[in-house]
Amino acid sequence: MTNVETKPAGDGDPAPSTIAVTAGRPPHVPDAPLNPPLVLASTYVAGGAWEYGRYGNPTWEAFEDAVGALEGGRALTYASGLAAVAAVLDGVRPGATVVAPRHAYLGTLGQLERLEATGRVHYRSVDIADTEAVLAACDGADLLWIESPTNPAIEVADLPALCAGARAVGAMTVVDNTFATPLLQRPLDLGADIVLHSATKFLSGHADVVLGVVVTRSDETYDALLAHRKLGGAIPGTFEAWLALRGLRTLHLRVERATANAMTLATRLDEHPRVERVRYPGLQSDPGYERGREQMSAPGAVLSIEVVGGASVADEMISRARLWVHATSLGGVESSFERRRRWAGESSTIPPNLIRLSVGIEDAEDLWADLDAALRG
Ligand SMILES: *Cc1c(COP(=O)(O)O)cnc(C)c1O
Repeated sequence: MTNVETKPAGDGDPAPSTIAVTAGRPPHVPDAPLNPPLVLASTYVAGGAWEYGRYGNPTWEAFEDAVGALEGGRALTYASGLAAVAAVLDGVRPGATVVAPRHAYLGTLGQLERLEATGRVHYRSVDIADTEAVLAACDGADLLWIESPTNPAIEVADLPALCAGARAVGAMTVVDNTFATPLLQRPLDLGADIVLHSATKFLSGHADVVLGVVVTRSDETYDALLAHRKLGGAIPGTFEAWLALRGLRTLHLRVERATANAMTLATRLDEHPRVERVRYPGLQSDPGYERGREQMSAPGAVLSIEVVGGASVADEMISRARLWVHATSLGGVESSFERRRRWAGESSTIPPNLIRLSVGIEDAEDLWADLDAALRG
């Protein structure tokens, strides 16, 4: 059992940074280790809460306690972000209508397309930043899927308006909060029913784990997801959960530094002669700026740029960089980037010259020097 005494002495709830450090620890008793042990178990002595390794694990629970505390709900961890997506989509009734952003994580849209092809669900694709259009599409829908900011267009959805509007017509809302993290945005407080993360990204933060997590305040949803995970079997490895919790301890420091770096780079890239457009809600000129300020405490560490000269110039720029790593994925301590349209499945409304940047925690001037030199050629 993990430590529930994460409240500081005195009044008031702990700050997110305190939760990140203290949640999911063993109780403070003599000789207890400070960290939860890595419990490797396929089965347990009968009569307890878990019984079998597919049903539960104390190391998963430590990670779930911490993410749940940060998002303000109860969490369940999965083998990957996409296993978490599949678990949520599996929960909708046969023939359900799902409204989802036209720009979103490729794998999420891929799952929806497959489910639509087999007649399992109907899928309506929307511009998630266009609140009126999304709410119109929610008429008769069962589920509204939201990403904000979106991958890789970095659009900001109006979370309070969309969650309230969907609820009014009886649709559940899911927010993929991978890009923002619970430190910058808490969708359950803004009205969402379910929050989902690829913990592969910022939560674990070191590019060494693939893991997913779902958080909800509804006991009914939690119980349904837990029953599904027990039978579906998309359970995480224990070491992955342990590593993710270890990474989570510094989430606030990493996100703060990476966001500060992203702000510096976005501001300079916005003036760069080789850059056509910067997409980042931290820039006043960005369409998501006002909305971002209302629902996020900071604009985050992922931005996209469109390079002057098209896709081949963008590819050359990427190959010239030395510090920036050419790699997919995001949210690690190291800065990485990629041209999204190199993936065949990427939406045709994403410009071919768009490069998504995941800004890390290196020195901002070093990052800038490398980017600037790569852009200038
Ligand atoms: C990476 C990612 C996913 C999928 O997560 P995996 O851990 O790779 O399965 C889902 N949503 C977003 C926004 C992502 O960036």
